[in-house]
Formats: sequence, C-alpha cells, structure tokens
Amino acid sequence: MPLPLIPDYRVDSVYDLTPERLRRSGKTLVLADLDNTLARYRQKEPDQALMDWKARLNQAGITVFILSNGRKPFRSRRFAQAFQVDFISHAGKPRPRGFRAALEQTGATAEETIMIGDQIFTDIWGANRAGITSVLCRPVALDTVFRRIRYAVETPFRAACPHGEGLP
Ligand SMILES: [Mg+2]
Repeated sequence: MPLPLIPDYRVDSVYDLTPERLRRSGKTLVLADLDNTLARYRQKEPDQALMDWKARLNQAGITVFILSNGRKPFRSRRFAQAFQVDFISHAGKPRPRGFRAALEQTGATAEETIMIGDQIFTDIWGANRAGITSVLCRPVALDTVFRRIRYAVETPFRAACPHGEGLP
C-alpha cells in the first residue's frame, strides 16, 4: 500500500512516459490530467509535439485518456476533440469515482493504468487511492501566485519521491 500523498514516480513531463517504458511495465492506459500537465491553463488545443507523443503511444497499443477536474466542460471537450482522445471533466479527483468511470469506459484494469498529473492533492492522491500507478510531473507553467503557493505547499510530498528514479 503506497503512502497516499507520495507519487510512485516523478518526472519532468508527459514526454518521459515513452511507449517503451509503458509497454515494459504492462501499461495500456495513460490517464492524463489536462491543466498544467498536457497544456497550459488557457491553451485550447494540443500542440504538434503532444500530438506526436500520443501517436507514438497509440502505435504501441496504449490509450491516452483525459481525466480533468476542470469545471468548464467545453474546454475539456474542445481540447480532447482536437487531441482525439476520450475525456472526463469535473472528475472529482481525488475521489475514486472519475478513475473508476475512466477504467469502465476503456476496459482497462487499475494494474494496466498509469496516471500522470501535476498536483499531489488531486492527481496523485486520487490515483493512489484507486490503486493506479501515480506519476507526478512538473507543472507546465506556474503563472499565478495561487499556483505558486499551492506548488510550495506540495513540496514535502514531492521531495519524498526521488526525481526520475526507478521509472518503469
Ligand atoms: Mg493540473
């Protein structure tokens, strides 16, 4: 049983999740947070690098799925449609409901799934509670005072997981 607020792994960005690593650890589903994980808060559509990353994963038989706490369903829908992935917005992370719904929709088991996100108290805590491998990434941009403070509050939990160590 992992400590609920400590990520299993810590990386720079989603690009550290390569098809090779995911295949090696038996993962077929990547649940990805949207804001500050896949894109900046106001970025409406994925850029080419992100599209290429997703294409490489798909070629290896790995599905990407957006699990967002965003309260503007239109934003998640627009981004997910352009990214050509399924999504759940207003997911209620860290509660297990959204995680369970994503597994049901995709048919993947918790063991086959990995969650990547930039926040301890939603993405990491939720994944750990759901029995899903948790990966913390750096926020794409800390562009408000509130986000910088939240990032500082999370520091002890981040520090408890060595950066980049033992990646699958
Ligand atoms: Mg986020």
